[in-house]
Amino acid sequence: MAGNFHLLGCPDCGNEQVVFEKVAMPVACAVCGHTLATPTGGKATLEGELIETVEAR
Ligand SMILES: [Zn+2]
Repeated sequence: MAGNFHLLGCPDCGNEQVVFEKVAMPVACAVCGHTLATPTGGKATLEGELIETVEAR
């Protein structure tokens, strides 16, 4: 059940937040509430700026 994590930058406030690639619920920026990722049944649709992808080990 491995999955990758994405480090996303919020396009509105620049906050950087780690998001699991298979989110079950929409993920909002912790600072301003902008939606960073939404679930699409499989991998999340990323709406923030993708800074880095971190592979799970
Ligand atoms: Zn934000």
